Amino acid sequence: MNRLILIALLFALLGLSLASAESEVHEVALTKIVPRENLREWKYIVLHHSASEVGSVESIDAAHKLRKDADGNPWRGIGYHFLVGNGRGMPDGEVSATFRWKDQCEGAHAGDLQFNTQGIGICLVGNFENEPPTVAQLKSLRTLMISLRKECQIDARGIVRHTDIKATACPGKQFPWEAVLSSTMEANSGQLVNTRKRE
Ligand SMILES: [Zn+2]
Repeated sequence: MNRLILIALLFALLGLSLASAESEVHEVALTKIVPRENLREWKYIVLHHSASEVGSVESIDAAHKLRKDADGNPWRGIGYHFLVGNGRGMPDGEVSATFRWKDQCEGAHAGDLQFNTQGIGICLVGNFENEPPTVAQLKSLRTLMISLRKECQIDARGIVRHTDIKATACPGKQFPWEAVLSSTMEANSGQLVNTRKRE
């Protein structure tokens, strides 16, 4: 009898530790990657899809290195600051900060100078013209956006889709824009006391 209770307890503990390990995987400790005092003055978050079924930092980095800017100079690499995997190419819901976030440098994702220099580019792997993002991707996106808005004091009006600033289908018609926007608004209400400070 005692042994049964012990086994039940062990399983309960194992379940707990697995659950917490899983939630940690998808958390991004922003200020551990870049200390708060080194953050660039970001004003926008620009949301993208990769427009591909499969993708990873490495595969998108390789593709973007083949691109050239308006002056004919090759891109330095992946144009986004963050990539969120869909289980094909990188783990489902995994958030990866690219060199553009680590170095706090401008992005190459918006096709617009203002949004490239002041906008944090987040890309979700997938083609959301054909299918919606995964549940894990949306959870991770929400967590990431809440942290970014808090650390960088980004106003809700600063969250845009690529299609809002350029003639493109990105992030696709199956991207649940309204739900994504409202889920971060609720969570961030009351946190953004200094929102207007930088203007
Ligand atoms: Zn885009």
